[in-house]
Amino acid sequence: MRPTGKLHLGNYMGALSNWVKLQDQYECYFFIADWHALTTDYADTSNIAANTLDVALDFLAAGLDPARSVIFLQSKVLQHAELNLLLGMITPVGWLERVPSYKDQQKNLANKDLSNFGFLGYPVLMASDILIYQPQFVPVGNDQTAHVELTREVARRFNQFYKLDGKEVLPEPKVLLTPSPQLPGTDGRKMSKSYGNTILMTDPEDVVRQKLKTMVTDPARVRRTDTGDPDKCPVHDLHKVFSDVFTEAKVAHGCRTAGIGCIECKGWVADNMVRVLRPIQERRASFTEAQVKEILNNGSQRARARAEETMQQVRAAMQMTLSSETGK
Ligand code: SF4
Repeated sequence: MRPTGKLHLGNYMGALSNWVKLQDQYECYFFIADWHALTTDYADTSNIAANTLDVALDFLAAGLDPARSVIFLQSKVLQHAELNLLLGMITPVGWLERVPSYKDQQKNLANKDLSNFGFLGYPVLMASDILIYQPQFVPVGNDQTAHVELTREVARRFNQFYKLDGKEVLPEPKVLLTPSPQLPGTDGRKMSKSYGNTILMTDPEDVVRQKLKTMVTDPARVRRTDTGDPDKCPVHDLHKVFSDVFTEAKVAHGCRTAGIGCIECKGWVADNMVRVLRPIQERRASFTEAQVKEILNNGSQRARARAEETMQQVRAAMQMTLSSETGK
């Protein structure tokens, strides 16, 4: 995850809550991608360090556990940069220009000059971030599968060129599809920091309630007595994620018959959101800044050791080494 500052409920429901569960089944690596932040925010790096700490705190608050998973900072594992350089040598530029987010982001972030080499090449860095741990799976939502596909293509190309003792060095990771509900923000569009429509994981109860109060609803419900269509209302989408089936059915019926008001309806979703957020916020408050830094440092050390194992194989396969270094 890029260090863009405090995470919001869309980040939590779409990624973090899944990652927390994966820790029980897999050996997991989670990291804060501070180099990736530079691909778009290279001109002003003043917030990256503070944002990194905020994201790390949100990771821990959500329940990522440094005793079970490797939680680290990308820029502390220089092997990612080395693999990025090597994979960059074999990746055709056409593959990068075809990545959908390349053109989309250039359009969406028109106020930034994204004609830089780093932005074009970020999928190679992403492939390096993944392949350096020789993983079986990459947990992603539906909208991220294209990135994993490119990573698989890069691995395939590497394996075609280079082998170590006749064996492939970079296995093609598979997509592990995780449920990632599209959470609407307060303006009804996808919850996203760039739209300014988020509910943060750190928002206290009164702020959550206030934000929901101003959230858009079905425009047909102007007066309390107007009937509405829950399928046209983003608040109902929030109920689908945060409320039980009983409440959701009560909302759908009450909305269609004008049996409930929007304020009441929003109050119920706020209750359920606060219930999810409370333990997260309590856990967040239990960590000091020094502890978070130590966790990131320790995790980065573990990640470096694992990444170096892969790099020794990569260097040997590419014959970028003197024979005495590999013991061969
Ligand atoms: S009652 Fe609920 S679902 Fe219906 S329009 Fe109002 S906020 Fe939306």
